[in-house]
Amino acid sequence: MPSNKGPIKLGIVGVGKIVRDQHLPALAKDSDYQLVAAASRHGKVDGIPNFPTIEAMLDAVPDLEAVSLCMPPQFRYDAARAALEAGKHVFLEKPPGATVSEVEDLKRIAGKHGVSLFASWHSRYAPAVEAGRAFLASARISSAAIIWKEDVRRWHPNQEWIWAPGGFGVFDPGINALSIATHILPAMFITSAALDFPENRASPVAAHVAFRTSNGVPVTMELDWLQTGPQSWDIVAETDKGKMVLSGGSAKLAIDGKVVHDEPEAEYPMLYRRFAEIVRAGVSDVDLAPLQHVADAFMLGKRNVVEAFLD
Ligand code: NAP
Repeated sequence: MPSNKGPIKLGIVGVGKIVRDQHLPALAKDSDYQLVAAASRHGKVDGIPNFPTIEAMLDAVPDLEAVSLCMPPQFRYDAARAALEAGKHVFLEKPPGATVSEVEDLKRIAGKHGVSLFASWHSRYAPAVEAGRAFLASARISSAAIIWKEDVRRWHPNQEWIWAPGGFGVFDPGINALSIATHILPAMFITSAALDFPENRASPVAAHVAFRTSNGVPVTMELDWLQTGPQSWDIVAETDKGKMVLSGGSAKLAIDGKVVHDEPEAEYPMLYRRFAEIVRAGVSDVDLAPLQHVADAFMLGKRNVVEAFLD
């Protein structure tokens, strides 16, 4: 049942990189939550009971109110379903699932059990996103470009799941860009795509995507996972009020070269604030637009086979 008083008793599942980098530090400072248990096959969280599976945690900790599911997307549906059916609120790491329809099913199950489901999109909480959105809402956009180029060896070492079917390949970071783009740009759809698959991998290492908004504005997206040196996480729009550049994953906003917004990031504290808000309001927050675009890119995209990727 929604917790209206006191901290939300939370369990965390899939203790790996993002749990250690972001969830635990954000939760440690957040009085809205009490982290009471963890479930992971190998990972452990100090100072709380740890269980090998979510089922064991749900059995052993009946007063748990919510869970954060942080394992890779291919392995999330069954855990989410078990938690929702046990009456727990569920925070899904991004991407919320491996398919659009499985997340639709989770939404239905959450509704049936009267609990909240949160499809979190951390990049939407980057500091300059709302300022960029307000700027674009006040301007006439003539074109936009999403450029997301990073070094997979630096950010995802030894993550085999990310290259497996359902791991999304370069769309794992690319969906972060899409979570921002779908929040700040008018509704759009893919008109063409080309996906570069290394000959030894099941997921793409690069993608070249063209979209069109319903009023005809062209939007391009370039994803590349082999960029060494400076990394690019930029969204650029040409408008009648000047050129907008959201850079550094939307940490910074510049209009015609002048920085108008630049703040330190607090994405995960804000995600947890939003989760507490929806739990207390008794609603869900599940926007599948970014996931739908990834599905469409795989559906419409031409497949190029490129050089093998070696770790
Ligand atoms: P990770 O460290 O490779 O995986 C997280 C944990 O999930 C692993 O430590 C593992 O814990 C568990 N796991 C792995 N394979 C599993 C399986 N087959 N079944 C059940 N559990 C499994 O990955 P991550 O970087 O934390 O990413 C997890 C999710 O967070 C992804 O959806 C990713 O897109 C998202 N995310 C990652 C980052 C980032 O910077 N890394 C940033 C934002 C969001 P056990 O072996 O202990 O079970």
